[in-house]
Amino acid sequence: MRFAVQAGRSKVVSSDGKMMADVERSSGGRLPSDPNSCFARWSEVVAFASGSVNFDEPCDQTSLDAPSPHARQVFGIGLNYRHHAEESNMPIPTAPLTFPKFPSSINAPFGDVIIDVPAGDFEAELVVVVGSGGRNIEASRAWDAIAGICVGQDISDRALQFASQPPQFGLGKSRLGYSPFGPWLTSPDAVPNRDALQLSCHLNGEEMQTTNTNDLIFSVTDLVTYLSSIVELLPGDVIFTGTPGGIGATRKPPRFLAPGDVLTTSLAGVATITNTCVGPK
Ligand code: ZN
Repeated sequence: MRFAVQAGRSKVVSSDGKMMADVERSSGGRLPSDPNSCFARWSEVVAFASGSVNFDEPCDQTSLDAPSPHARQVFGIGLNYRHHAEESNMPIPTAPLTFPKFPSSINAPFGDVIIDVPAGDFEAELVVVVGSGGRNIEASRAWDAIAGICVGQDISDRALQFASQPPQFGLGKSRLGYSPFGPWLTSPDAVPNRDALQLSCHLNGEEMQTTNTNDLIFSVTDLVTYLSSIVELLPGDVIFTGTPGGIGATRKPPRFLAPGDVLTTSLAGVATITNTCVGPK
């Protein structure tokens, strides 16, 4: 199934992505409209979506919110692809390098990103949204705890990220609009090759990043297991699972974002989002 949010209301999306149905209205008020309330009752939402849903609204992807717009916790994982760790001249991590992306940075999947800093950078990522959540989730149940996957950009202000030593990642990745993801969630059962997906980022049509997610150092299962052993994963929480090589900062010369740039980020067979960089308003 596919799940989306438009104007704050939860929707299920048809398999061809062209139509959708309002969860609360189509369920006759049995299910809630609020996304976090839906994630907390995820098994009921999945059961509803697998029934005979009347998809009666057109799905314009550019009108969608992020599919978890009010996440209470947004995790980022650094250096989680071998190639990216190597290009950053960093040792391969032995535990997931975890940082917060503060939730006020969440952006729509086709939202503009204000670039008013000299070293704004792009990071294509597989993004995971937690379903019912919990603590101490076992590896065998990790995918079951996930509502769905989508694609996102971990936009980063490199100057702010490295303004102190050791670097602080949280603020540098949390400016306004720096966390677009979507356009919808695809449930794990609908993605047969969910641990081996082609991820890519194009900047103004030119390929900048490409990888297969089977190159992740810590898999989705590893991350859910690790994070939930420390913190409670709450319904609707978001995990940016890390970016592959090819980011702007490590290019020679560096290629940082500027107003007018268009980022297209794809997880093959699952989702594509497009974000335009704009100047200060
Ligand atoms: Zn990242």
